[in-house]
Order: sequence, then C-alpha cells, then structure tokens
Amino acid sequence: MIRFNEVYETLNAKPGPQHWWPADDQFEVIVGAMLVQRTTWRNVELAIQRLKDAGMLQIEVLHRERVAAIQSRIKSAGFFRIKAARLKNLAAFIVGQGGITALSKRPTSELRSLLLQIDGVGPETADAILLYAFARPVVVVDAYLRRLASRLTASDEAVPDASLREWVATTIKGVSRLNAFHALVVEHGKSQCKKRPRCAQCKINALCQTGRAALDA
Ligand code: SF4
Repeated sequence: MIRFNEVYETLNAKPGPQHWWPADDQFEVIVGAMLVQRTTWRNVELAIQRLKDAGMLQIEVLHRERVAAIQSRIKSAGFFRIKAARLKNLAAFIVGQGGITALSKRPTSELRSLLLQIDGVGPETADAILLYAFARPVVVVDAYLRRLASRLTASDEAVPDASLREWVATTIKGVSRLNAFHALVVEHGKSQCKKRPRCAQCKINALCQTGRAALDA
C-alpha cells in the first residue's frame, strides 16, 4: 500500500493549501468540471467568465438558453458544440431533480449514481463534483494520481483504480484534506512528475522508488 499521507504531508509543506476549486457557487464548480475535460483550466476560466458576463451562469438561464448562444460563450473551452449541449442537459437535469439544494440532501452513493447519468459525466468528473461542489469525502482518481502511483511503486503494472481509491481513503481523511490532496497531486503532476519527471528537484523523491533509482543511477 502506498502511504499517501506521507506524500500529502511532504507536498503540502510548501507552498501550503492549494485553495481549489475557485468558484462563486456549487453550480459554477459543476460547470467548470464539465468544461475542463480535454482542455486547460485557463481556457475554462475564459469560458466561465463569458458565461457570467452574459448572465448565463445560472441553472434556470442555461436551461432555457439556446444551445447556439451557449456555444458562442464557451468556444475557448474547445469541443464547444458537445459541451454546450451537455451544459444545457446538465441544467435540465438539475432542474428536474429539484435544484442543487435538493441534490445536496442526497446520500453520497445515490448522488454519485445520479451524476453518472448525466451525459458527459464519467467517474472522474462525478467524483470531482462530489468533492468540490458537494463537499463529500470522495477520492478523485485521475491520470495524475495514476502516474504518480506507478512511479512511487516503480511497478510495470498499473495500480488498479479501486486500490488507489482505497489507499487514499485509508490514509487521508476528511473533505479539506482530500480536497488539498487532489489539488497537490495535479500541481505536482504538472510541475514535477511530468511525462519526463524532474526527480532531482522533486520534494517527494525520498518516498519514490522511481526517484530513488534515478538519483542513484
Ligand atoms: S521522484 Fe520523480 S518520479 Fe517520483 S514523484 Fe518525484 S518527479 Fe515523480
């Protein structure tokens, strides 16, 4: 088992909590989670700002709005035709469920099942929404965590998602720590543990089999 608590504590020593996910409300988090698929956060920020400027970042407004109007606002996020249809569908779903407040009262497993029924919401997006929009203690398993795990163990075989979920859940407790952990793993994956890892500068190289092997070579 990987002791993710040690990874978390070391990564979190500096620069401190990451304060994810920047948003004014739950709906904005959910919209961001849908838009960020296959693009960068910077592009999502531009799309969200354009939706806000048009007064469209509201469930009822998106529900009523024409898809073409949504498309024109979110072009920066890429795949804008698909994403606009998905946002409209998302808004319809939330309205049909009685709104975000009603959804917030659902137990986590039930809410996850409901989210997975939305077009464009897979397990990773559903878990990000649960953690960041609904403050549920959920582990987000994404490509950055998978890559980090395979390097920490230096294993040729990918660690199964179910094991990753269990190991993180066992060692990192609580919404705020899970929130910060996911943010730290993503930032670490972008800045250090990239496709070509920067093991010499890495804060957790003492915990990492791949890093230790690279530094001993
Ligand atoms: S030591 Fe290298 S491989 Fe290990 S986590 Fe750091 S950057 Fe990634």
